[in-house]
This record gives sequence, structure tokens and C-alpha cells, in this order.
Amino acid sequence: MTSERENPFRIAQQQFDSAAELLDLPQSVRATLRVPQRELTVSFPVAMDDGSTQVLTGYRVQHNLDRGPAKGGVRFHPQVDIDEVRALAMWMTWKCALVNIPYGGAKGGVIIDPALLSPRELERLTRRFATEISVLIGPDRDIPAPDVNTNEQIMAWIMDTISMHEGHTVLPVITGKPVGVGGSLGRSEATGRGVSLMVREWAKRHARDLRTLDIVVQGFGNVGGVAAKLLTEMGCRVIAVSDASGGYLCQKGLRIDAMQHYVRNHPRRMLEGCPIDGVEQIGHAELLELPCDILIPAALENQLTSKNAARIHASVIIEGANGPTTPEADAIFQERGITVIPDILANAGGVTVSYFEWVQGLQSFFWEEVDVNAKLERIMVNAFQQVYATAEEHQVSLRMAAYLLAVRRVADAAISRSIYP
Ligand code: GLU
Repeated sequence: MTSERENPFRIAQQQFDSAAELLDLPQSVRATLRVPQRELTVSFPVAMDDGSTQVLTGYRVQHNLDRGPAKGGVRFHPQVDIDEVRALAMWMTWKCALVNIPYGGAKGGVIIDPALLSPRELERLTRRFATEISVLIGPDRDIPAPDVNTNEQIMAWIMDTISMHEGHTVLPVITGKPVGVGGSLGRSEATGRGVSLMVREWAKRHARDLRTLDIVVQGFGNVGGVAAKLLTEMGCRVIAVSDASGGYLCQKGLRIDAMQHYVRNHPRRMLEGCPIDGVEQIGHAELLELPCDILIPAALENQLTSKNAARIHASVIIEGANGPTTPEADAIFQERGITVIPDILANAGGVTVSYFEWVQGLQSFFWEEVDVNAKLERIMVNAFQQVYATAEEHQVSLRMAAYLLAVRRVADAAISRSIYP
């Protein structure tokens, strides 16, 4: 149970309210945008391998549809709850608006620890959940994607399930699919690539040589792991990473490729037991508090709070995860002069290439990876520059600047569409 102060939806509303206040939005737009447009809760049975039945609960929330179909991932996690999904859906609306792709925001989740399921159970769960939310999703209505604990295989099952219902293959109903069934080249690395571009742009702006930067990454999955790999390729020193099994530190710089190789061969895809010379095992709390230049939280919400913000020793925090920093921690960082590159900017690379995948699927015309990466880079760098310029112009934090840009775009769409009927 999260405390009210760490309730992600309250936090998302608080962030929106401050931006709406600065933008002086009309009352009707404020009231509309601070709550989700549609919420679906589903309870559904899954046949387990031992012959028993487990009834699971899941959600799909569409926060806003003013700028286009809803877009956002689906997570499988034991701590999912409706307020978390509401917050994540709202953050998707702002993220899509910030990078100016024609979507609203959505998110889905199932309360389950997928590590406890066999592959067949995972497939049955996924197909039944896809069927339950099929009343909401569709290529021009709401397009899911991967998120925490979901992957390409799960996206392929969802695409197949919807296609079986329709009687023909429907590629653009979901993104993050394997490349062989309508996925985009570059999608699996896109979020981590976007995060690494934020590091590069920050370093450029502050005249810092990438080879002098010590980086700590919390998380070693599709965001943290990829970002760590690309950052070492760029010449940075990634001194610590972590996953659910703990933190791993090497002041001289970790060999990320060897660690990724280890994880790929681990039965639960974890760093647990990673036997690499010179690597010290550390705790989760200790990892976040390591002295470094750049800290990249790339796991879950509420990692940087009033409890540890005073002990963070990074110059800049780049939010690979959604919602890793509470508003109290944000205020402490601002006071201490620690820059925060906010989630809706820093991790927007994933949904940006999801957009490319959707467009490619709709047109049945697939692009080369260099073109995907070049278009991603252009969008991310442009958004980074706009956020910095807005922060300077209005003398606000980068998070507030990102919100001012994103909320303005969504509010303008809501105002020009006006209220139906
Ligand atoms: N789950 C990712 C996010 O939080 C990607 C969403 C998408 O590609 O639609 O941005």
C-alpha cells in the first residue's frame, strides 16, 4: 500500500494542477484534464497448469483522447493498482504531447507477479486480458505496448488474440511486437536510446566530456540495461547498476556487455550471482546514494522521496522510469541545485518509436533501422531543446517546463474541439 503522499495519481494531479495554474487554464479544461476519461476494471479467470483456476484483476485506463488514439503500455506487477494505472495513463498523455506525436494517453496493468507463472500460464493470462480489454483497444482507438514485466512475446500474443477475433491480421493494434510480426527495427532499444541521448545533450550543454562522467543506473531491464550499454559505448563510465536482486558496483566502470550476457542466460533473467571480477554487491538504498555525475532511476515509481533526497549525490537525475521522483524530492533537488530531466521527456523514446511502428504497420511499409534511429534522435533532441528553452524563459524546473509545453498542447486541442454535445 502506498501512502497518500506517495499515491502516484495524487502526485500526477498535483503536477498537472501546478502547470494548469501557471498556464492559467480555464476551469472547465482543468477539471476535465485532471481525471481520466475512461477506466475499465476487469476480473477474469486463468486456468493454471495444476488444474486450478486463478481469478485476476486488471485495468485499462484512457486518460485523454483529444490529440488522437490513446497510447501506453501494459504492466504485469503484483503492486499494480487503479491509482498507479491512472497516473501512468495521465503521464502518457503529457509524454505524447511533449514529443508531439498524435496520441492521447493510456495505461494498462494486471495484478500478478509473472515470475510465478509458467510460459503457458503467462500466455493464457495475456490472451484473456487482451480479450477483456478488446472492448477498448484498437488501431484507431487505443494502442497498448510493453511496460514493466511485459515484452515482445506478450505483445505478439495480444496482436494474435485480437487478430483471431477479427479474422485477419491486425498489426497496428499494438506496438513493441517482434520484428518478424510487424515490429519496428529499433523499438526494443528506443527507450534506453532516448535516455542516452538525454545524457549526451546534457553533457553538450554543460560542456562536459562524456568520458569523465560516472553514471549510476537503477534497473537493468529494457530501459536501464539498454541505456547502460549505450552509455558505455558512448565512453561514459557506468559504475553501478541494479535489479531486483540488488546493486552491483565497480568504481572503474562495469562491463555492461558481460553483465547483459549473464542476464540473458539466467533462468529468471537477473543479475543474481553475477560472477564478475571487481564487482561489489551493494544494497538498493546505497546504490541511489552513490556519489556520481548522473543518476538514472529506470525501475519503478517513488524511488527518490523526502526520505533519501538529501542524500543523493548526483549532479543530474535522468528519469528513465515513470514517476521515480516525488514532488517533495523534486523540491529538495531544486533547492540543492540538482537538475532533474523529467520522465515525460527522458523516457519518451519508447513511445516515439512505438508511433513509428504503428505508422509502419498502417502503411505496410517498413523502415530501415538507421532511419528509425535518425528520426528518434531528431524528435528527442528537439524536445530536449524546447524544454530547456521553456525552463529558461519562465525560470522554472525542467519538469515544469515539460508540463507547460505538453499541457498547453493538450489544452489547446481540448479547447479547439470544445465540449460535446
Ligand atoms: N511503456 C512505455 C512508456 O511508459 C512505452 C509506451 C508505448 O510505447 O506506447 O512510455
